[in-house]
Amino acid sequence: MICNLCPRRCGVLRTETEGEGWCRMPALPVAARAALHHWEEPPISGKRGSGTVFFSGCSLGCVFCQNEAISHRDFGKALTVPRLREICLELIRQGAHNINFVNPTHYAHIVRQVLEEPLPVPVVWNTGGYDRVKTLRALEGRVDVYLPDLKYLDPETAGRYSAAPDYPGAAQAAIEEMFRQTGPCQFDEAGLLTRGVVIRHLILPGQTAQAKAVMDWVARTFPKGAVLFSLMSQYTPWGDLSAFPELDRRLRRGEMESCADYMRNLDLPGFCQERTSAREEYTPPFDLTGL
Ligand code: SF4
Repeated sequence: MICNLCPRRCGVLRTETEGEGWCRMPALPVAARAALHHWEEPPISGKRGSGTVFFSGCSLGCVFCQNEAISHRDFGKALTVPRLREICLELIRQGAHNINFVNPTHYAHIVRQVLEEPLPVPVVWNTGGYDRVKTLRALEGRVDVYLPDLKYLDPETAGRYSAAPDYPGAAQAAIEEMFRQTGPCQFDEAGLLTRGVVIRHLILPGQTAQAKAVMDWVARTFPKGAVLFSLMSQYTPWGDLSAFPELDRRLRRGEMESCADYMRNLDLPGFCQERTSAREEYTPPFDLTGL
């Protein structure tokens, strides 16, 4: 396939085994883990866990990525489309409340094929937010819950930390398309999310103004209470940050508190993680479990 799936629009050939685009991934899926995951937001993880499939490769280049073993170093196992469908069914048999495709942007064509026949549980698109509207439109009716990051609204910061100065405009358009598809959040009788959009933001050291701008945008873009907002504060320095010394520290308590207060004052419904959350809870071992 000639790939223009994400806003990079590389226009390069992806064969079944080789990829020459920014994400480096071939056309067939590569994944690093498929297992029940208990550390998503409560209406997604529920009691039994979310059936996560972690794809390898990435169309972003975040210097602080906690999953860099799979996103930057491409660790993973090559799969076929039928095997990926089988993996989803295995997770459902294990009790997964939903199937949660993690970092699926560069595998949108594969997810679409896997979902040709609907699954008996909601499908979650768990993304960095760097999605193309055109690509999302092809998923309409197949994805039930969108779980995008909104990392930045400032192009300069998006360029510096994720090598994507066009990220803010692309992510804003993508999230508006996601909401157009799902409408306001809906829950089942157990309180699990069956449809809707949950927007995540990871607060970065020294970037509280960015976090507040993101919250302002969410508050003024969507009807009150129609989307959920997840304010994440588990940032942990990771990898070689010598070129980004300002990111080489944990979040200060004051930074977290001022963002949490801001969210409360805006009356944004959602979730606010504790600063003390351990990194390991959010970064599972990438050991090909379940593949
Ligand atoms: S999905 Fe990969 S190859 Fe395709 S446009 Fe995006 S970065 Fe390029």
